[in-house]
Amino acid sequence: MEKRVIASKLPEVGTTIFTRMSALAAECGALNLSQGFPDFDAPEALREAMARHVMAGNNQYAPMAGVMHLREQIAAQLGLHRNINCDPESEITVVPGATEGIFCAVTACVRAGDEVILLDPCYDSYQPAVELAGGRAIHVPLAAPLFALDRERLEAALSPRTRMIMINSPHNPTGSTLSRDDMLYLQELVERHNLLVVSDEVYEHLVFDGRRHHSALEFPGLRARSFVLSSFGKTFSVTGWKTGYCVAPAELTVELRKIHQFVCFVAVTPVQLAVADFMQAEPGYPATLAAFYQRKRDLFCHALEGSRFRLTPSAGTYFQLLDYSAISPDPDTNLCEQWTRQYGIASIPISVFYDKPPQQHYLRFCFAKSDGVLTAAAERLCGI
Ligand code: PMP
Ligand code: GLN
Repeated sequence: MEKRVIASKLPEVGTTIFTRMSALAAECGALNLSQGFPDFDAPEALREAMARHVMAGNNQYAPMAGVMHLREQIAAQLGLHRNINCDPESEITVVPGATEGIFCAVTACVRAGDEVILLDPCYDSYQPAVELAGGRAIHVPLAAPLFALDRERLEAALSPRTRMIMINSPHNPTGSTLSRDDMLYLQELVERHNLLVVSDEVYEHLVFDGRRHHSALEFPGLRARSFVLSSFGKTFSVTGWKTGYCVAPAELTVELRKIHQFVCFVAVTPVQLAVADFMQAEPGYPATLAAFYQRKRDLFCHALEGSRFRLTPSAGTYFQLLDYSAISPDPDTNLCEQWTRQYGIASIPISVFYDKPPQQHYLRFCFAKSDGVLTAAAERLCGI
């Protein structure tokens, strides 16, 4: 037998489901509603600003914590959209994607033997970050069909070794949101148990039907213990620019930056300058997103009315879960591949985001797509 040169530190991890499903969609020429990214372009002014900064020669390293003009714009927008005061110098760090920010926050805080609570189904980067830090992921399922916080199960999962809880609202992949009451409860819980929090709020502006996003930054007891992540990829439809930011109290920010400076050192300079210019020129832009995506959600959901799928309209994010239990008893991982090949429509199975997938039958569809694609996708789904 061939002798292995390395024993994997992440033996269970393969290529992400997003990469695999997007590749399969391309191979089959399928409509790709799997990986979450818009199929339409970012605002022209933002793209122009990017081109301008590249051509103006702003192509060398930015300051480690991010371009100050951008950090000031982030602080201004937190004031404008959330009425939150934030110090750009000591509390805001620009990161090359929320994924990197999450990794750095976990690495900065989690030690060998620490336990970290993950609410399943959870985003795929959380558990590897915890494990690479030597921690242990403790999984608490969110209760279907609404995927709400299950307080009893959450409390039962706590132990003296619990160090952190990772929350994500609006929630990928289910489209659920945490209520103000949930946030007040979590605030009390993390204070009572002295826990740190990673609050993944990358879909913060995508909340529907008159809901408000409740950021961890709005609750003093949470804010004092939280790393809050946002992503320009979602807010400005530039997922490929891989830039976002982390807001955390000064003491936590110091520790985050110690890791960030050796994982990536800095985020990309012209991206930061372009986003800063755009935020300054169009401070109201994020507030337009809820209506924009709600219309797309509604278009997609209405077009599915004659189908055999069951759905609860997504409360936030640009993802819609469809329950296919009236169509097939097959596992979601099989079906999403089969339907990509057979019907030319790619989606994401949600069982892969669980430690122990429950008996349920959901696929996730991304509706950040042009209206024509959404209508064509719904037509194909109606035929299944
Ligand atoms: N968290 C969640 C829940 C996400 O859906 C994404 C999107 N990929 C990220 C984090 C990562 O964002 P980014 O692309 O800025 O790293
Ligand atoms: N966040 C995106 C999604 O949920 C995918 C990002 C990725 O491919 N890592 O589809």
